[in-house]
Amino acid sequence: MAKRNERYGMKKKALKRVAKRSIGGSKTFAYRKERTSAAVCNNCGRELHGMPRFTSTKYVRLAKSEKRPNRKFGGYYCANCTREIFRNTARNV
Ligand SMILES: [Zn+2]
Repeated sequence: MAKRNERYGMKKKALKRVAKRSIGGSKTFAYRKERTSAAVCNNCGRELHGMPRFTSTKYVRLAKSEKRPNRKFGGYYCANCTREIFRNTARNV
């Protein structure tokens, strides 16, 4: 009976494939866990609060209200920048 590769559990679609070259020169793939960065404000670059830090596969399973703050510009601009936008639009009216 063929021996099952002990790294077999690492070989799944949930992990990211990274091309590697083995010592013998042949091309192999290393399986790495997908890393996520925090969502940042599009104006000032500050980290956004209330945003999940999941991988893409876990993110799609969330409800819409769990993905970003439920307000105007929620998930795009931080609270300070949103406040500034509201003020500027009110001043220009
Ligand atoms: Zn901002």
